[in-house]
Amino acid sequence: IFITLEGGDGAGKSTQAELLGAWLEARGHEVVRTREPGGTRLGVEIRRLLLHGGEEVGEVDPRAEALLYAADRAQHVARVVRPALERGAVVVQDRYIDSSLAYQGAGRVLDVVDVRRISEWATEGLRPALTVLLDLDPADAAARLESRGGTDRLESEADDFHRAVRAGFLGLAEADPHRFLVLDAAQPPEDLNAAVIARVAPLLTA
Ligand code: C5P
Repeated sequence: IFITLEGGDGAGKSTQAELLGAWLEARGHEVVRTREPGGTRLGVEIRRLLLHGGEEVGEVDPRAEALLYAADRAQHVARVVRPALERGAVVVQDRYIDSSLAYQGAGRVLDVVDVRRISEWATEGLRPALTVLLDLDPADAAARLESRGGTDRLESEADDFHRAVRAGFLGLAEADPHRFLVLDAAQPPEDLNAAVIARVAPLLTA
């Protein structure tokens, strides 16, 4: 079973991935927790270039950026995600195609149809059974990130960008309600975890 977590920076995806992973493991499932970008050795390098490349890479063209995310994703799906799913593991993944649609599409004004096409080519059409969208107002997310102390290149982008990304995610969820579970990420982590589990449990018996 392939489960992805989506949402802006600071929405609590890692915490929810951890809680869900622990719950699944306690029930005897093999869990592979992974993330994009950076879920493979190649991906770690791509992630470094994208997020911390700075002067080393210069200004990255939006199309080049979209292709680098797609390259990371192709390697990750081929080497990590598909093998895990084939041996029956549950894959709990931080970010997937929806992040590209929201960030490189809605956020960077590339054509969302094009971004979807390269992602689907990169993954040979692999789709999650469930996508949890942790929805949070960008202002709340910024406050959380501030208290956490870390900001990378994208975390410091302008507010408008984060609002466009949020709207992008919500639009994707609205268009595909069967796959998405949208949660208000301002809730306490335990409440969010309970809502996630309620949605995951039936998938395990299906
Ligand atoms: O969530 P994580 O810290 O892994 O994301 C790293 C950064 O990459 C985030 O700031 C996010 O905005 C960005 N990102 C992106 N497009 C993607 C995936 C992540 O712009 N497809």
